[in-house]
Amino acid sequence: MKKLIITIDGPSGAGKSTVAKILAEKLNYKYIDTGAMFRGVAYAYKQKGKVAKIEDILRDLGLNFEFEKETKVFFEGVELRDELREPEISMLASKLSKNPAVREYLKELQREAGKNGGIVIEGRDTGSVVFPDADLKFFLDANLEERARRRFLELKRKKDDVDFETVKLEIEIRDKEDSQRKIAPLVIPPGAFYLDTTYMTVEQVVDELLRRIRIDYGDS
Ligand code: C5P
Repeated sequence: MKKLIITIDGPSGAGKSTVAKILAEKLNYKYIDTGAMFRGVAYAYKQKGKVAKIEDILRDLGLNFEFEKETKVFFEGVELRDELREPEISMLASKLSKNPAVREYLKELQREAGKNGGIVIEGRDTGSVVFPDADLKFFLDANLEERARRRFLELKRKKDDVDFETVKLEIEIRDKEDSQRKIAPLVIPPGAFYLDTTYMTVEQVVDELLRRIRIDYGDS
């Protein structure tokens, strides 16, 4: 089968990462989590004390990325994991993602990582800006309550002091900012399959995406 470029966009908590990871695994593709890259920039910028404008130190942040079965983010040689999921980093990532230099820098890396195909790439602008000619584009959505519930459960697994209403508000603010920004806002890319996952299980969503892939590209 041709090595496809598959994009998955959508708001926070729509299940993009979970689904993209499983899909990449099943297809034996690379998984590119672009949100983790924005979060990596936010984390490193914070560590550097935000002493200069982000565009001036972007390439000296000490960041490295690896794309295989999952996206790995390294700061000064050390892999970042749960640190990237902190609410403060989410908000800073969303703020920095409005910066054209940040977007340009990450877009270059994303295109380079996906240039030979065989990728599932997931984020806010992967089908609209990063790979506008992708072979297949998906847009995953769910209502706010359900998206907040999913993010709440994810955070709760890692620590106890998580408040549902705070998580919901944080998601609401971030989505609004991501949708209203001037550059690369969150949109349903032209030609994308829209899927409301509010009442679907992860397995059902993955099956639906695989069904779509088979319809367009067959099994071999
Ligand atoms: O998907 P995730 O919640 O990890 O993304 C964190 C933030 O990074 C988003 O709220 C958004 O502001 C930004 N982002 C973006 N474009 C992408 C992926 C993420 O602007 N393709």
